[in-house]
Formats: sequence, C-alpha cells, structure tokens
Amino acid sequence: MSRTIHWFRDDLRVWDNPSLRAARDRAKDPGDVLGVYILDEHSTGIRPLGGAAKWWLHEALNSLREELGDRGIPLLIRSGDPQTLLPALVADTKADRVHWSRRYGGPERELDAGLKQRLADQGTAAHSFAATLLGEPWTIQTTTGGPYKVFTPFWRALSARDIAEPQDAPAALGDLSSASARLTELGVPIGDVESLALRPTAPNWARDWHEIWDPTETGAHRRLKTFVEEEADSYHEHGQYPDATATSRVSPYLRFGQLSPQQVWDAAGGITHAESKTRFRTQLGWRDFSWHLLYHFPELPTVNMRAEFDSYPWKGQQDDPETFRAWTAGRTGFPLADAGLRELWATGNMHNRVRMVTASLLVKNLGIDWRAGEAWFWDTLVDADAASNPVNWQWVAGCGADAAPYFRIFNPERQQKRFDPDFRYVRTWIPEYGTEDYPEPLVDLQESRQNALADYATITGKN
Ligand code: FAD
Repeated sequence: MSRTIHWFRDDLRVWDNPSLRAARDRAKDPGDVLGVYILDEHSTGIRPLGGAAKWWLHEALNSLREELGDRGIPLLIRSGDPQTLLPALVADTKADRVHWSRRYGGPERELDAGLKQRLADQGTAAHSFAATLLGEPWTIQTTTGGPYKVFTPFWRALSARDIAEPQDAPAALGDLSSASARLTELGVPIGDVESLALRPTAPNWARDWHEIWDPTETGAHRRLKTFVEEEADSYHEHGQYPDATATSRVSPYLRFGQLSPQQVWDAAGGITHAESKTRFRTQLGWRDFSWHLLYHFPELPTVNMRAEFDSYPWKGQQDDPETFRAWTAGRTGFPLADAGLRELWATGNMHNRVRMVTASLLVKNLGIDWRAGEAWFWDTLVDADAASNPVNWQWVAGCGADAAPYFRIFNPERQQKRFDPDFRYVRTWIPEYGTEDYPEPLVDLQESRQNALADYATITGKN
C-alpha cells in the first residue's frame, strides 16, 4: 500500500502543484492520496493570519475541497499544532509518506525541519517540493556566493533562467465517496472549513466581498486570463493609475498559492505589448525578491535592515493613537492617501501606487514607525504576505535592503495631481470630499518633511 498525505499550506491549488502530482503518481486506489490543511495559529513564531486573509482562506479552502473532490481526493481540515496533529494523522490514516510544498519564513522552516525529523523517527518519509517561487532562494547567488540585496541584479540572474512550464492538475483517482468510505473505516473524521471560524461575524465587514472577489481556483485562472487578454496591454501606461483596472489583481491568488508564479509568468507570455510584458514580469520578480530577502534575513518583518535606523525617533502607534487612528480610517486630510485607506478597509485591497503614498505619509510625515503600518496592512489586505508586506514597508521607510533613498519623500498632493488628476479615485472612496465634513490635513507637508530629513540626518551623522 502507498498512501500519501499532501499537507497544504500556501499552495491551495490542484493545477501546477508538483507535490500533489507526485502524490497522485504513486497512488493506485481511491484514498491513497489525502489532502490536509491545518490552521496553525499557535506555533511559536508563526504569525497568525489577519482578518481579511482569513476571509480569503475560508473561501479558498472550500474551493480547494471541491477541486480535490472532483479528483477523488478528500481534504481533511484540522486546527492546532501540526507538530502533534500531522504525525497523529499519519498514524491514524496509515499513510507511508507526507508531501508538502516548501515554505521560506524562519519559524516555518524550523517547524518543517523538526517535523521531517519527527516523521522520519516514526518511519515515515517527508518530501518537500518547490512550488511557490520562480527560484529557490538559496540557488540565486551573487558572484561572491551571498544573497542579493539589490533587486536589479537579482532579477537579471533569475529572469535569465528557464522558468518551469506549469503542470496539469492530477488525474482523478476514482470517486470521492470511495476515498471517504476508507476514512470512515479508519475512524478518521474529515473536518469542515466552517469549524475554523475564519469569517467575520460581528460585524460582518466582508458581506459584499463576493461582488469584488472570486477567491476560487477557477476565479484565479479567470482573472489571469482576463488580465492578459483584455487589460495587460495598457499595463505600461496605466498600471500606475489607481482608478484604472490595468493591473492584474492576482496578488491574493499568489499569496494563497491558488496560482503559482510559473503560471503567471507563462500566461504573461501572451501579453502582446512588449513593454507591458516586461514590466509585468518584473513586478512579479519583486515578489520573489521579497521572499529571497526574507529567507536570508528572517528577522526583517520586525528589524530594520539598515541598522542605523534603529535609533530613528519614530513614534509607536501607542504614542500618538489619534493620528494613527485617523490614518487607518482614511481621515488624514490627504485625499489620495485617504481614498486608498478607505478602499483597503472596504475591499481588502489597495493599488500599489497608493500603498506607497499611504506608507510614506505614515512613516515620513506623521512620524509613526513602519511596523505599525505593516501590522495594519497585515490585518486588512487580502494579499497580506509575510515577505512582500514588510519588504515594501522597509523599502518605503528607507530602512530596507534596496530601499528608496530616505530623502525621496512622496508628496501625497503631487501624487494625487499626477495619478488621479480628475479626482475619480478620490471621489469613489471619499463621497464627502470637497465638503466641510472632510478633515483638514493632519500635518503641514513641508514642515513634516523637514523634520523627517533632520531626524534622518541625525541617525546618519550627515548634518
Ligand atoms: P500587478 O502590478 O499586476 O503585479 C503582478 C504581481 O507582482 C502582483 O500580484 C504581486 O504578486 C507582484 N508584485 C507587484 N509589485 C510588487 C511589489 N512591490 N512587491 C512584491 N510583489 C509585487 N504585495 C503583496 O502581494 N502582499 C503584500 O502584503 C504587500 N504589501 C505591500 C505593502 C506596501 C507598503 C507596498 C508599497 C506594497 C505592497 N505589496 C504587497 C506590493 C504590491 O502593492 C502588490 O503586490 C500589488 O499592488 C498587487 O496588485 P496586482 O496583483 O494588481 O499587481
């Protein structure tokens, strides 16, 4: 008998999932491949999901369960510590192998390595597969053998490689009822997604989100196809405009692994406009770069990559709770930023340009620590990503590896004139804009800019 458990984590898909395919390839009968998802909020160092991501996960798991079911593979659902749950499940289901797609965060790697050992000790082989990045982080090295800290040479090295072709979904393994019957014989409950309590209840702020998002694997393919066939050609021109639908909006699918970057890269081959194609693939490269950095510098979600910023006098959110609250509520008096922050709250998404503007406003003009903003985004974004979020916050704050120079401070008013000249985006999200109900700016842009530069001069000794 050969029964494999595929442990799903950030790879919630059946298409282009090498680990799942390998499990199917060694199976003979229904019940020889079992999927399992374990909601793990308590293992030391593993960051619990934010609210918006939990909503997405609920939907993604239901979709995965259906996709797997169509192929005769049950999806077991558990909640708790994988270090005890997984070995117990192996024993209960009499599985002889465990497969998973690799993770790259520090605590996750530690947990996976420990589990591999524990499973080996009980006589079960665990196999890990590459499924989440275009290139495994340790395989991309500078000429001196170290990690890259600058994006351009990193991307030159990675994009020069052959990118693997996406694989098909595994062929069906009989029907689901036979596989489920075998679990019943073994006395192993399947568990349900509802029991994970991932959706908001009081209040249910995601009530209308189905009108905005389709968090299924089919929805992922549809979004990518529509982007490539109907929208992508204007990416080079309109990709920076928040009210245009010129970006792909595939980030949450990538975050939960409903799309692999190989599928996105491959589909991008169909973009006819050469500059749009290159720019889009390059943006995809930032995702790999973020994970490359996180792999090599696992502390970066909380620690400045440039140590001189450790003495920068940022305020914590508790030092100025009113200002921080006004920022989260989109009531700073800077319309482009406020529109973005309200869009984020209402939809779980914000355009990249506006993410940069809102982050710069918080860190440089309002003087609040980037970690407070990063935590807010973590809780509110559907694509909240353990690498891309802190890397981008550090980039904007100026303390990151390949960061924007500190003195380049986004001016939210100028950005609005340039990227939302007709106030279309602003008016969509701020109905009271232009009336006296809309707040006055919280700070003077020039003065706060000068203060930020003076503080920067202090930490770098360049005054
Ligand atoms: P497109 O422009 O269509 O790009 C295609 C894909 O490339 C994206 O889906 C994404 O996977 C990747 N990508 C694009 N830009 C970046 C980037 N700067 N860094 C990393 N990957 C990128 N992205 C996240 O996926 N999760 C986050 O938590 C996140 N937090 C951010 C925080 C801040 C402060 C900033 C400035 C950016 C953040 N980004 C994050 C990056 C970027 O804003 C989003 O990836 C992008 O807006 C997603 O929209 P899209 O899919 O339409 O992007």
